[in-house]
Amino acid sequence: GCGICVKKCPFEAINIINLPKDLEKNTTHRYGPNSFKLHRLPMPRPGQVLGLVGTNGIGKSTALKVLAGKMKPNLGRYDSPPDWEEILVHFRGSDLQNFFTKILEDNIKATIKPQYVDHIPRAVKGLVGDILKQKDERSEKEGWDCFQWAIESGELTHVLDRDVGVLSGGELQRFAIAAVAVQASDVYMFDEPSSYLDVRQRLTAAHVIRQVLEHSELGDRRYVLVVEHDLAVLDYLSDYVCVLYGSPGAYGVVTMPFSVRVGINAFLAGFIPTENLRFRDDSLSFKISERAEAGGELYKNDVMRDYSYPSMTKTQTKGTAKFILHVEEGRFTDSEIIVLLGENGTGKTTFVRMLAGLLKSDEQVALEKAGKLDEAAMAGPPDLNVSYKPQKISPKFEGTVRQLLHKRIRESYIHPQFVSDVMRPLNMDGIIDNGVQNLSGGELQRLAICLALGTPADVYLIDEPSAYLDSEQRINCAKVIKRFIMHSKKTAFVVEHDFIMATYLADRVVVYHGNPGVEATANAPQSLLSGMNTFLKSLQVTFRRDPVNFRPRINKRGSQKDAEQKRNGNYFFYD
Ligand code: ADP
Ligand code: ADP
Ligand code: MG
Ligand code: MG
Repeated sequence: GCGICVKKCPFEAINIINLPKDLEKNTTHRYGPNSFKLHRLPMPRPGQVLGLVGTNGIGKSTALKVLAGKMKPNLGRYDSPPDWEEILVHFRGSDLQNFFTKILEDNIKATIKPQYVDHIPRAVKGLVGDILKQKDERSEKEGWDCFQWAIESGELTHVLDRDVGVLSGGELQRFAIAAVAVQASDVYMFDEPSSYLDVRQRLTAAHVIRQVLEHSELGDRRYVLVVEHDLAVLDYLSDYVCVLYGSPGAYGVVTMPFSVRVGINAFLAGFIPTENLRFRDDSLSFKISERAEAGGELYKNDVMRDYSYPSMTKTQTKGTAKFILHVEEGRFTDSEIIVLLGENGTGKTTFVRMLAGLLKSDEQVALEKAGKLDEAAMAGPPDLNVSYKPQKISPKFEGTVRQLLHKRIRESYIHPQFVSDVMRPLNMDGIIDNGVQNLSGGELQRLAICLALGTPADVYLIDEPSAYLDSEQRINCAKVIKRFIMHSKKTAFVVEHDFIMATYLADRVVVYHGNPGVEATANAPQSLLSGMNTFLKSLQVTFRRDPVNFRPRINKRGSQKDAEQKRNGNYFFYD
């Protein structure tokens, strides 16, 4: 560790050698003795979107609360908090002085889209349409139909008459974003807006958030702050970025503002150039040749198994609602990761559950009914030995993580290779004595991934592994899955909406198209390049690659690159 942490570093990799010397003088807030300390603050700029990137527990939400005026910063003196006069002196000479003066004079109204949208129904009661109508101050103030725009871009038309309490995760998220965007505020904060959304909805959410700055001269004076773990989305919607680094739960440091590209690359590199400071031992690159090296030998010489599944149909009915999934026939081999790409409600989970043997195809059911058992077996997915991490995780186990690991993956969790490939990078040690019922969403996700990979199988089915994980954990987790599949020479099917994670993981992709919730088709697995091209074309989005770490970056809509790539049909850049 770095010797500064109060608690044990949750990421063993973190090893900060040369922390800035003036940190103590720049303490913004400390919750109490031996508790979390935030150093410095991000400085919002009027008329721009400030993105915040950093691991969980590093102080992002704390910074938002301070900037929103919802929490008075104590400059580290939790026992004798300073008055505002002294706080203003502390920030003298920076733009923050001006900002806090306005907060103090109550000239600023701040609105926050909370991180945990699942909690909204407890605090907000009523019908979606009524609540949005009531919150909408911008229509009158700015003279345009902001309400209509918000429900259309939030895809909320079909839920206007529904109670907030019955909304799905994605619907709640879109509702929460809309409910903030229609208010007339000076500071708009969006804490993790992409959770539960698919790729297309994430892009729409990004446009909704940016739009806050676009209407009338009011927009030029508004401040927008966004905390986001999907780095492609953060990249797309921010004008500039502050990185938060430190030791989660112990202290966090906010960097100076960077251009979006420099900031995100610094985060990925684990190195802050302006401070000559390394905060993570390894960096992440998306270079294709590196990946080919890692897996190349396995692919060429060592392919042991070849699987196929027939074309299938699956009809799901609930009450009067009916969903039909068509699956094109496909093949796959071991040592490869196939990523499923599609909008919410197009049947990704349905297909995964079919591969898991939990759902039979319509054809299979019909043949079984007719007593043709041999034919029936051929009309479904092959009989696979699978390990399945479901999308929804709600463990009933009443014991500690260690007890569950012992019960479920007794052999693996003490196996040296598994410990170094999976347990350690997922930091299972840090939660091993915690009660499973008390784990946070991110901790539960890491445990579920660990259990799934620790279960011996030929095919690993991993549905939405990045949910509840921060960007650093996503990187870790993507590396873990990749390395595990390469070393074990097994197959994985992964459902993933985080674009950077999906492209990092995918050897090939299955693209879904159709009408969400009604009828959709899963294409046969195809190469990453052609699959991404198909997928991105359907979204009308183009990507380029960063020259330093090769991470995919979304082109601004209508930019020269965007137009050129669309003209040439190169939606996904792959050079
Ligand atoms: P992030 O949003 O980056 O995940 P937060 O700002 O929510 O992080 O929290 C940073 C740290 O401060 C965490 O370790 C959290 O447990 C701690 N913390 C947050 N609120 C309080 C509080 N009211 N009292 C004591 N500690 C707190
Ligand atoms: P995805 O994982 O791509 O979001 P799902 O496979 O979960 O999609 O669901 C596809 C569609 O099928 C959704 O509209 C969902 O509501 C519907 N659906 C899923 N399970 C059932 C079921 N048991 N009965 C009826 N409809 C279902
Ligand atoms: Mg937070
Ligand atoms: Mg799903």
